[in-house]
Amino acid sequence: MENLERLAIHTMTTKPWDLPTAVKKYSQAGVGGLGLWRQWLEGRTLETSKALLDDHGIKAVSLVRGGFFPGLTPAERSASLDDNRRALDEAAAIGAPQLVLVCGARPDQSLSENRRQIMEGIAACIDHAASVGVKLSIEPLHPMYADCRSAVNTIGQCNDIIDQLGDAWVGIAADVYHIWWDPNLEQEIRRAGKRILGFHVCDWLTPTQDFLNDRGLMGEGCIDIRGIRQEVEAAGFCGWIEVEIFSSRHWDRDQDAFLSDIITAYKSHV
Ligand code: ZN
Repeated sequence: MENLERLAIHTMTTKPWDLPTAVKKYSQAGVGGLGLWRQWLEGRTLETSKALLDDHGIKAVSLVRGGFFPGLTPAERSASLDDNRRALDEAAAIGAPQLVLVCGARPDQSLSENRRQIMEGIAACIDHAASVGVKLSIEPLHPMYADCRSAVNTIGQCNDIIDQLGDAWVGIAADVYHIWWDPNLEQEIRRAGKRILGFHVCDWLTPTQDFLNDRGLMGEGCIDIRGIRQEVEAAGFCGWIEVEIFSSRHWDRDQDAFLSDIITAYKSHV
C-alpha cells in the first residue's frame, strides 16, 4: 500500500456512494485521504462524520466547496460570505486543512465586476479562515466556465490575487483539468511555489461530450498529468494528490470496479 500514501479521492468521484460507503471502500482499498464535498455532510452531525472518518483512518484533505462570491445585490454577496464562513467552520470540524474555493461568476454582470467581487469576497473571509485555522484554496477553473462558475481561470490570476491578499491564509488548488492548456503554466506554477495547497487529477477527453460531467480517468485523455505533477512538486508541493472525476459514464459503472481502475490509473499515469 506504500505507493498509495498520498492518494485521496473526492466523494464526488464515486458519486453513487454515500459517506459511510465511500469511507469504508476507500479504507479497504488502502486510500487514506478524501476530498469531502459538502453535500456528503448532510444528514448527520459534523461530529458523526468526523468519527466516521477517524474510525476508518481516513483524513479529510479538503472541503469542497466554498466561493461563489459574485452577486447582483449586497444581500446576495453577504449571504455568500455567511455560507463561506459556515463552510470554514465545517472544514475545521472535520479536520480539513483547506476549503476549496470555486470563486463564481454571474453572466448578467461584467467579467471585471465578477473579478472585483471575488477579490472582495476572498478578502472578507481571511479573518474567519485564520480564526478557525483553515486555509482558503482558490481553484482556477477552465475558461469555459468563466460565465457562471468562476471568473478566476489561471494560476497566474491566483498568483495576482494572492500577491494582493497575502499567502498566510490563501493558496491555490491546482486541478489539471482546468490548467493543462495554459501556455504560462510552468512559470506560474514556479511563481506560486508553496502557495499550491492542493493538486487535483483527472483527464481531458476528446471529444468532450459534456463540459461538466465528462471528465476522464487519468490516462484516458491528453493531459500530461505526470509532467504537471513534476512541476508542482519542483515548486515545493508535497501534499495529497486528489482524484476528482465528474463522469456520468463512470458513475453509471459498478463503483467497486471504478475504484479499482482509479488505483491502477493512479499508479500508471500520476
Ligand atoms: Zn478540482
